[in-house]
Amino acid sequence: MSFTVAIIGRPNVGKSTLFNRLVGRKLALVDDTPGVTRDRRVHPARLYDLEFDVIDTAGFEDADAASLAGRMRAQTETAMDEADLILFVVDARAGVVPDDRTFSDIARRTSKPIVLVANKAESRSSQGGMLEAWELGLGEPIPISAEHGEGMVDLREAIVEAL
Ligand code: GDP
Ligand code: MG
Repeated sequence: MSFTVAIIGRPNVGKSTLFNRLVGRKLALVDDTPGVTRDRRVHPARLYDLEFDVIDTAGFEDADAASLAGRMRAQTETAMDEADLILFVVDARAGVVPDDRTFSDIARRTSKPIVLVANKAESRSSQGGMLEAWELGLGEPIPISAEHGEGMVDLREAIVEAL
């Protein structure tokens, strides 16, 4: 089976880190500065037996806040159009913040399956954020650590179930 997965979410939740893990290489730029991902990137990826194309979505540098929001929204919508399944990523350590709701409102408008991913879940400080993630109304959050490679079996399971 061949399908395309878009990684969606506000800046700095770990989308590019997850993208790199799925792709198996450091293709996307990971940066501590929120919103740093230069381009939208599509690349073949693998999660155990699943092979698919994955789309990373971005923030933009050199943009004022107003146009930034619009461009991120447009890019998110384009990526969702191209995808068969959406991985909606939140930061379990930070909990749900207003930007998460902005992005989840965009995501909810698609009829495509969405898997809610609670990233940065490697420490106990992520417990509260995990619970808050339910509030987004995108179903059960799947705890993962993109950085440490934790939760990948559950993520695979959730993808298979959602497809
Ligand atoms: P993006 O803006 O959503 O693409 O986020 P990035 O992938 O660029 O990551 C933003 C920051 O979160 C970077 O400092 C990453 O190292 C960090 N990060 C990503 N995944 C994890 C994780 O699983 N655990 C922790 N603790 N930090 C992470
Ligand atoms: Mg990024």
